[in-house]
Amino acid sequence: MTFQEFKLHPDVAAGITAAGYVTPTPIQAQAIPAVMAGRDVMGLAQTGTGKTAAFALPILHRLQPGGRGRVRALVVAPTRELAEQINDSFIALGQKMRLTSTTIYGGVGLNPQVATLRRGVDIVVACPGRLLDHIGQGTIDLSKLEVLVLDEADQMFDMGFLPDIRRILKAVPKTRQTLLFSATMPEAIRGLAGETLTNPVTVQVDRVAPAVTVSHALYPVEQHLKTALLLGLLKHTDTESVLVFTRTKHRAKRLDEQLQKAGYRAASLQGNLSQNRRQAALDGFRDGSFQILVATDIAARGIDVSQISHVINYDIPDTAEAYIHRIGRTGRAARSGDAFTLVTGEDTAMVRAIEKVLGKPVERRRLEGFDYTVPAPRKDSEFARPPRQPAVRRPKPAAATAPEAESAKPAGTRRRFKRNGARSGNAR
Ligand code: AMP
Repeated sequence: MTFQEFKLHPDVAAGITAAGYVTPTPIQAQAIPAVMAGRDVMGLAQTGTGKTAAFALPILHRLQPGGRGRVRALVVAPTRELAEQINDSFIALGQKMRLTSTTIYGGVGLNPQVATLRRGVDIVVACPGRLLDHIGQGTIDLSKLEVLVLDEADQMFDMGFLPDIRRILKAVPKTRQTLLFSATMPEAIRGLAGETLTNPVTVQVDRVAPAVTVSHALYPVEQHLKTALLLGLLKHTDTESVLVFTRTKHRAKRLDEQLQKAGYRAASLQGNLSQNRRQAALDGFRDGSFQILVATDIAARGIDVSQISHVINYDIPDTAEAYIHRIGRTGRAARSGDAFTLVTGEDTAMVRAIEKVLGKPVERRRLEGFDYTVPAPRKDSEFARPPRQPAVRRPKPAAATAPEAESAKPAGTRRRFKRNGARSGNAR
């Protein structure tokens, strides 16, 4: 299958060539003809499958004829990072077209967004909370909307955005094309699909099958030697960009500091960062100024860095699905990548669950020359926090020294973030 077979507008085809895409991915092969035919689509696919272009290309094709400066396509996405990536895709693929696009999310100033919307844009990529602000204030006109995309719908549901989505649905024209993408299909999303899609075409790429180009390895190690082993692995492995996952944001921050101390250009991405610093970490990782990014699952959601050569699970994830999500960041779209997971004795059950999903055992490896015999310090202080002072009222039980769990920080919600500049793109 080739992109020519879709008979996309020559300006869109030029964008595909400029982006360097040669062959459509399976989700694109299925979704593009359906979207071009004007059908509603239920897309079951996760990031890394090429799903963004699967909706962006036929939307650009649809918008090519017709007027400019009215919002004709709206994409709703759960996080700011994902919104920026989707917008970047529209800009890259639509670079030969006279279309404009912008992102709308919270944590940045409202006024630049109002000004951009007033000047007129064709495509808006938005997070739900801030979009509702604009709808409420009448600063966005959606009356000419033709296509609505709900991306990572399961994620939006997990983050509590479903009521917001329903409000948004009330504010868009009833006659429109709707595309709903989700990695999984929980009951709530099935319900949402039933409410929003008319006679949809369902397109699906394997829900949990990881990219075949990824090779997996487990590195059994004791907890207190994880950092030393990670440093050893980095030293002895030929890596380009490395994404390291930790279970908690506290660990992500500490590990980032330790990697920097060891001389690596590293950054961390965790929920505690301001929007400016998150963007700087992401941009730096994308352009190669940071070689290593340490992140928690939630902070890393939807990250698309095509050059990631290695995903290293410093901590094993909590579910087999999360493992597939994590390693989906490497070996993207026909590139090869490696996924290393450091495992301790406590991780046996999770390893079994992951092997079941992968359908095969994962190779156990030992790092040559690494001293696995170094005993644990008498009190394992790695990542332990200083004991808390006893609280006067409502004392917390034993969990006081456990590292804090990462918490979901929905993007685009109101009230929550500091103000700074907005980014908007011109798909020209
Ligand atoms: P996505 O699943 O939309 O996050 O896309 C994953 C990655 O695949 C992105 O870096 C895209 O630029 C890239 N990509 C999408 N479609 C293609 C294609 N047909 N050929 C090569 N790379 C692609």
